[in-house]
Amino acid sequence: MRHKLEDVRLLAPIIPRSKVIGVGRNFVEHAHELGNEVPAQPLLFLKPNTAVVGPNDPVVLPEFSEEVSFEAELCVVIGRICKDVPEDRADDVIFGYTCGNDLTARDVQKTDLQWTRAKGFDTSAPLGPWIETDLDTEDLQIQGRLNGEVRQDGSTSQMIRGVRELVSVVSQAFTLLPGDVIMTGTPAGVGLVKEGDRFEVEIEGIGRLSNPIVRR
Ligand code: MG
Repeated sequence: MRHKLEDVRLLAPIIPRSKVIGVGRNFVEHAHELGNEVPAQPLLFLKPNTAVVGPNDPVVLPEFSEEVSFEAELCVVIGRICKDVPEDRADDVIFGYTCGNDLTARDVQKTDLQWTRAKGFDTSAPLGPWIETDLDTEDLQIQGRLNGEVRQDGSTSQMIRGVRELVSVVSQAFTLLPGDVIMTGTPAGVGLVKEGDRFEVEIEGIGRLSNPIVRR
């Protein structure tokens, strides 16, 4: 049976059973805007699957942070169990792509030794609105909009490590399972969200992910 999009509520298109892998500082201008150098080695981190929420689900600002930032990102959804994937075989293990927001408690990221709390708190990984399975990711516009205002406007062509290289690099560290998600890094323009805001990630060829920001 078919339903109109406006008549249904979309859930997160995937809840990874094992992990969301984040990639830090994969855009030169974003690394520099936060005063960081581009890392010589890939900078990887994990977000637990309990961080994942879907389209229009509220992002709940954690009690322990006063500085939560948005990060609009292209996300890769893995389709097959794999390990040590050569770059030229990466397409074989990719199921598709979706939009994501790698919400980050910037203050805690600076003060905690690990990024676990800063990057992994509940609701810190909105994904959606769906998974696009047929997509050329060489040069796609990535926009992040805060309350309708464009704050991030980049392209996947600006990635230091592209999608295939990231799948290869990540799979050297972790066995990837079907449904695992790689968040590929954010373009420049990040900023803070506050209670009452709405943040949207729109990626060319995929669609738009929108979430309200709340504090409880
Ligand atoms: Mg990020």
